[in-house]
This record gives sequence, structure tokens and C-alpha cells, in this order.
Amino acid sequence: MRKKIVAGNWKMNKVLDEAVALTSELVNMANDEVQSDVKVILCPPSIYLTTIKKYLESAPNFALAAQNCSDKVSGAYTGEISAQMLQSIGVEYVLIGHSERRQYFNESNAVLAEKVNTALANGVSPIFCCGESLDQRQNEDYIGFVKNQITESLFHLSEEQLLSVIIAYEPIWAIGTGLTASAEQAQEMHAALRQHIASKYGAEVAEEISILYGGSVTAASAPELFSSPDIDGGLVGGASLKSREFTNIIKAR
Ligand code: PGA
Repeated sequence: MRKKIVAGNWKMNKVLDEAVALTSELVNMANDEVQSDVKVILCPPSIYLTTIKKYLESAPNFALAAQNCSDKVSGAYTGEISAQMLQSIGVEYVLIGHSERRQYFNESNAVLAEKVNTALANGVSPIFCCGESLDQRQNEDYIGFVKNQITESLFHLSEEQLLSVIIAYEPIWAIGTGLTASAEQAQEMHAALRQHIASKYGAEVAEEISILYGGSVTAASAPELFSSPDIDGGLVGGASLKSREFTNIIKAR
């Protein structure tokens, strides 16, 4: 049985009071309404991680992720946050390779491989994001493109290391656009990625890896997406900023 996971990527939103209020609401709703076999991962801005961690003490199925980490280990990199720092404050996960990082901060597959390495070396599990643009979907081998993102950033890992990675398929055309991939489109990609992992690591490893879908997931679209056989949960952006909506998405999983 693969882990069921719903992650909320807050991106660069919420001031401290709002972040704390959202966390408290989510924890209260989850304690009343959510089954404990679903792992909920909150990805707030890094500056709030330590504070929010305190609010999660009464919510054992909640965990924290940073939205990014440096590819460097330590040293003179002003403004950067290392995986070791995340580990030292008890953060268990880190988003790596979100399309906004790839696009606005020019993060290449090779740099992302380094980030994956430093995260794993510090016991922080990567949530590795991948996905194609609309142009690629319409004009190119879009499945091959996403498979290649995984090959170049993850396929140097040992089997044991790979099993610490969560994959999030996020078609760029569906992120923040209100245009969710259909359950068929998402399932097609998830099955292809699982097959790709099986070709390198074997079917047993591929069966164990959680692959999340992200891109305009809402409480309305989540049930059908999450009922697809290879979709193990979601990485939710905009809808994770609203406690009622996000709780309903968690409940759909
Ligand atoms: P969205 O963002 O749900 O707002 O489309 C998803 C993401 O970028 O992780």
C-alpha cells in the first residue's frame, strides 16, 4: 500500500498571523474530520517553519516541507537555506524542482539533482516536482520530456534513496490557471512515470513510490483525480490557502 499524501504549497503567501491562523484551523478540522492514514504536508514559507511546527504537535499526521533548499552544503551563499538547516529544525520534506523555481530561478535538472542529493544526505525527503508546458504537450513528446526530468535528476540515486522521494507531477499549464488536467490525462502520465521507474529500479520499487498530482486541484476535482489507480494524492497550491477547501481535499484522499 502506497502512502496517501496531500501537500499544501502556500508559495509566497500569508503574513505570520495568517499563517498561524490557517494552521490552527487546519489542525482543528483535521482532528475532527480527517482519517489518520492520510499524511498532510504543509509547505509554508521557510521563515514560518519553526513557528508552525509548534502548532502541529497535536496533529501526528501533519508534517512540514520547505518550498526549496540550496544545492550547496554550507558557506558564503547569502540568502540561501541548506538542507542541513531544515533538518536541524525538524523539517522532514522539501519541494525540489517546482516549475516556478525552474522558470523564474533557472533551476536545471542538473542543479535539481544536487538539491536532491543534499536533501537526502541530511535526511530530508524530496518532493520532486516535474511537468510539461502547454507547448510541449501540444507539440512534443510530452511524456518523454517529463520522463527525462526524472532520469536527469533522480536516476543516479540508489534504490533505497529513491524510496525516500515523493514525486509530484504538475503540468505547468494546470498550475494556477484553474485548468485541472483530467483524471485520464493525469493517470496517463502517472502510469508512464511509474513504468519509467520500473524500467530502472524494478516493479516493486515503482509500486512503492507515491506520485502526487498538482495543478489547480480543488475540492471539486480532487475525488475523481484521487480515485485514479496511480494517483496517490495531491500537491495543492491556491486551494491550500483556504482551510475549509483544503480540508475537503484532504478528505477526498
Ligand atoms: P495550484 O498550484 O494548485 O494553485 O495550481 C499547484 C502548485 O503549484 O503546486
